[in-house]
Amino acid sequence: MIEPIYRPAEDRYQSGMKYRRAGRSGILLPEISLGLWHNFGDVDTLSGSKRKLHHAFDRGITHFDLANNYGPSDGSAEETFGQIMKSSFAPYRDELFISTKAGHDMWPGPYGTWGSRKSLMASIDQSLRRMNVEYVDIFYSHRYDPETPLEETMQALVDIVRQGKALYVGLSKYPYDVAGRAYQYLHEHDVPCLLYQGRYNLFNQAPAQEHILEQAHEQGAGFIAFSPLAQGLLTSKYLKGIPKDSRMARGGFLKPDALTPEVLARIEALNDIALRRGQTLAEMALAWLLKDETVTSVIVGASSVEQLDDNLKALQNTNFSEEELKEIDEALSK
Ligand code: NDP
Repeated sequence: MIEPIYRPAEDRYQSGMKYRRAGRSGILLPEISLGLWHNFGDVDTLSGSKRKLHHAFDRGITHFDLANNYGPSDGSAEETFGQIMKSSFAPYRDELFISTKAGHDMWPGPYGTWGSRKSLMASIDQSLRRMNVEYVDIFYSHRYDPETPLEETMQALVDIVRQGKALYVGLSKYPYDVAGRAYQYLHEHDVPCLLYQGRYNLFNQAPAQEHILEQAHEQGAGFIAFSPLAQGLLTSKYLKGIPKDSRMARGGFLKPDALTPEVLARIEALNDIALRRGQTLAEMALAWLLKDETVTSVIVGASSVEQLDDNLKALQNTNFSEEELKEIDEALSK
């Protein structure tokens, strides 16, 4: 059967999505971005991945976040994206902001991981091939490599931009002090860091507590939050046990032992606050991040179009009263 040609929704920029500027840069990102860490690998169906990606773009999500090793299997999320790029998104390449990263384990042997020039240079070429694109919009160092001189990793990022393989560069999960040196190196080499990517959600507020957010702001970089729903914990899905088709049941990074009685009590208390606000817990968790203007975007994961729609509803109310913020703090201290 021949599939109909994908035509994006004509009202994709009038459907409620807002775009925020990433630091002191020319880039505008949708308040909600879509990440392909899970749910887009070769263990998932291509038709399901296509539905989610089409739907996201139809609703104004222009930013898709990838990394060399997303799948499973490693590399397969980029391959999925590459197939959809070819079949659907190619005419709209200039409307898309695509990221990838290198730094975690990707291929065997000493060069398939961490932050050497050897590894980063090979990885970006592999990613471009898998994704069927000539360049990515932003390329990240996925994690700080304490064994490789920072200058080597940063110079590789600079050269990747000079070679036209990425337009901008970013840092992911760098500790505060190293991030400071990295910002400086990149600034001095005229390839400033545009985005810092960190884990930030109601349950993990380290970027605010460790001044990473403040630092990004001062350095003119945007901050983009990953795992904003704590991989699904900050939704109503685990309130009545562990659903069979959930990330926790599938096994992986989100383990059942994360769902302690204390965590469950916090989820219940947060869920009550969300309901009083007329939101789902997922909506409130995203709105809570977006209330802060220094958060440029939140990268959600979604295993269905329905989840994506639920998450997009967060944008309808990102204001919190003092009383609600107090209640949230109390819920978190349970
Ligand atoms: P989330 O915290 O958004 O978790 C996504 C999961 O939550 C989904 O797979 C789904 O789980 C569940 N979920 C999402 N929306 C809903 C909803 N409305 N109702 C109920 N359940 C919902 O994000 P991720 O942890 O997936 O991370 C997002 C992205 O961030 C990644 O794809 C990646 O791009 C990036 N990232 C970057 C990292 C880095 O090191 N720089 C590390 C990790 C992520 P289920 O499958 O159970 O349905």
